[in-house]
Amino acid sequence: MKERAHSLASFSTWANKGFDLRVHAGGMSDARTDPDIAPSSVFLALFHSFVFRLPSLQQLDSELSHSYLQQWIGAERAFRDDTLRYSLCGFDLDPLEAMLVDVNRRLKRGKAFDEGRVQGRLVAAMDGIEVLSSFSRRCDSCLERRVILKDQAGRKIEQTQYYHRAVGCQMIHGPVKPFLAMEWLQPGEGEDTAALRLLNRLPAMYGSRFFDILLLDALYAQTPVLQLVQKIGWDAVISLKQNSRDLYQSAVRLFTSRPPDLAFTEQRDHKTYQVQLWDTEGLPFTIDNPEPVRVVRSEEVLDRNRYREGELTSYSTDHEWLWFTTLSKQIFPAPVIRQLGHSRWKNENNGWMDLTKHWAFKHGFLHACRHRPKQTNASGEPELVPNHGLAAVTLILLIAFALSSAFVLRHSKLARRDQLPAIAVAAQLRAWTAKTPPPIRAPD
Ligand SMILES: [Zn+2]
Repeated sequence: MKERAHSLASFSTWANKGFDLRVHAGGMSDARTDPDIAPSSVFLALFHSFVFRLPSLQQLDSELSHSYLQQWIGAERAFRDDTLRYSLCGFDLDPLEAMLVDVNRRLKRGKAFDEGRVQGRLVAAMDGIEVLSSFSRRCDSCLERRVILKDQAGRKIEQTQYYHRAVGCQMIHGPVKPFLAMEWLQPGEGEDTAALRLLNRLPAMYGSRFFDILLLDALYAQTPVLQLVQKIGWDAVISLKQNSRDLYQSAVRLFTSRPPDLAFTEQRDHKTYQVQLWDTEGLPFTIDNPEPVRVVRSEEVLDRNRYREGELTSYSTDHEWLWFTTLSKQIFPAPVIRQLGHSRWKNENNGWMDLTKHWAFKHGFLHACRHRPKQTNASGEPELVPNHGLAAVTLILLIAFALSSAFVLRHSKLARRDQLPAIAVAAQLRAWTAKTPPPIRAPD
């Protein structure tokens, strides 16, 4: 008989055999002393809540008391979200990060990224992401900004908003797009500072050849970033906007004085693009750093149809993009640079937007949680441990995201046969714990 739905048993076997899920879970630790509920169970509880796409920690509470999930995660009793928070705020981040790296390495060894290679190269992108914001709750590591709001009477008022922001690096282009690492912005520092820290950390985590090409936003069009990328041995495609004035202006001046190097029409997603491309090498990056770089410009007219007063009319919009790159013209002609430049991961259904929208990544309370274990400081006084809650939850989310996508997109024959979206697979796995206890011996 053909299987009709995914079982959690098949997911667990796959994750344990291929990715050592249980072994990694056993290595988790937190700041509690002699807790009833082991850190491995806390990790597995949250991991499964992401895999099942549970909408909230309250929902996880309910699953733990009404389903076999408690047995699946090896907990001796049900527990509530206060236990989760207390554990997560003092969670040790190193084993989580080590697990994320291990999962990604195994995905690469299993050729999960090969489908997305561009001219044989693997592509990653780095960008900033805002994780939460609040006007009331704050913690020591919150970033702050002043924002203008309207009160009930419509008057403008200025208020301080607290938020957290990180820089993330993600494999893109293939069907499976896991995050490799994240770096949190510290209060008072810019995104570029966190980005440099992340870039510096990546080779030690993954080696310098884990991917070949890095896509970067215009914000990172800076000499230190370019130099670091080249020192590590990556190639880069970086958006160019008016904030890089020298290079932008010299490119625009050059390109307006000559016809495009290439023109073509492209049909994609029921839209028609008329594309003109310019491509030049040898423009100085900045006055201070006149290193010659290659610039590609794309001018695109997008034709769309729409109904206006019952009649189908067509209208068009103009778009302009510029990128500079360290890639060579011979292997990466202008249309390939354009394609790379357009693969922005933020808007994709597998990127950060998806994580925040559909993966219940709403854990704002965690950053300001005062209910935390204590440790003894240098002067012998007890003090709260540093709050790792948000970072821990994010890492567990990224691990769950990587494994769930790989399971659905690479492993499951059922998902392919029935053309199941990831969210339907998540619902099937979740339903399984309502009716089936785990095997007596924990799967290994
Ligand atoms: Zn905070």
